[in-house]
Amino acid sequence: MPGREVIGREELQEVMEVMERGVLTRYGFDQQRNGVFKVKEFEKAFAVFCGTRRALGVANGSSSLKTALEALDVGPGDEVIVPAFTFVATYAAVLEVGALPVVADIDDTFNLDPEKIEQCLSPRTKAIIPVHMCGAPARIQRIIEVARKRKLLVLEDAAQCCGGTLGGRKVGSFGDMGAFSFDFVKTITTGEGGMVVTDDESLYLRADQYHDQGHVHDPSLPRALEKHDLIGFNYRMGELQGAIGLAQLRKIDDIINAQRANKARIKALLREIEGIAFRGMVDPQGDTATFLAFTFPGYAEAKRFQQAASPHGLDTTLFKDNAWHYVLNWEHFLSKATVNSKQYPFSSSVFKDRWKVTADMIPYADDILGRTLFTGVPVKMTDEQFEKIAGAVRKASAVL
Ligand SMILES: *Cc1c(COP(=O)(O)O)cnc(C)c1O
Repeated sequence: MPGREVIGREELQEVMEVMERGVLTRYGFDQQRNGVFKVKEFEKAFAVFCGTRRALGVANGSSSLKTALEALDVGPGDEVIVPAFTFVATYAAVLEVGALPVVADIDDTFNLDPEKIEQCLSPRTKAIIPVHMCGAPARIQRIIEVARKRKLLVLEDAAQCCGGTLGGRKVGSFGDMGAFSFDFVKTITTGEGGMVVTDDESLYLRADQYHDQGHVHDPSLPRALEKHDLIGFNYRMGELQGAIGLAQLRKIDDIINAQRANKARIKALLREIEGIAFRGMVDPQGDTATFLAFTFPGYAEAKRFQQAASPHGLDTTLFKDNAWHYVLNWEHFLSKATVNSKQYPFSSSVFKDRWKVTADMIPYADDILGRTLFTGVPVKMTDEQFEKIAGAVRKASAVL
């Protein structure tokens, strides 16, 4: 997921425009900034890119999820369905607003299985957060169909799938709201940063006010005289992040195209491995190609291949062994280890025994994540790197 690979003069030039005027905040200081509004410009460009009416820059991906949940009025007493395979922040955001995450299984796309939503429902279910993991979209249309039938809200966690599409339409634009991250390992990066997108003006306004201490933004008023409709907090994006984001966004099509070409070449090399299967894709043309996943018949074969390939230059992740992306590996969540337990929903009587995760509740995830290897696809690759991978595949295949 390497926007970091292409940081260069374009980002520097955008940052310099900010530095020359010295206004590092997105609001106020109109005379000094002399028309330079990088976060605002980045938001406008991002909304056009996503095909949504609105985009709101925020401090990071985690706060984009939290800000969206606040705007959607998800809070204490609510349950939110989340997939077993995601970065820990998806769950943390639900807890941050006082709601309870309810774990759902994944399907062959490695994303939330729409057919497993039903069994996770309770009268308290308010929303679903499908996550487009590792660069490729979930079955989002079907998820939304199920959600609409049950009058549930949908917030897409598109942190790992910026630029991904289904039938040409961008992920993040299907649900009621979408959330993005621009942290340092994402497809485009601003160091730290995030974005909330939506077509709904009132959701946008709630998010906009919430993320800036309740400010009702009104360009005709000085900032100190703006009204406050609701209590918020500070999840603002800074101008330097906005500047970098603008330059990165201009490069995103090139980033994704390069990854797709590189992924196709790596995939051709991996086809030689006997007995593997590739990840299911809802729309192969909409894959951002940040990762290539290949599945072995069992854990033993995957592990043997991984250990044999790594010293020869093919590094892979087996997510069942990874500490941050599989719910059953989060001992702090499993044991409800919180800073202030009163703030979290675990102890609430209405949720008695609702927070529970065992392998038998998520059989598909528990099986497939234990025998699938993921390898990251770089933007820039040389012929020597492909040859190295070919060699690693040959050597590791010999131990299967
Ligand atoms: C990175 C990520 C986040 C959080 O983004 P940050 O910018 O790191 O806070 C949320 N969800 C997923 C799926 C992610 O990969």
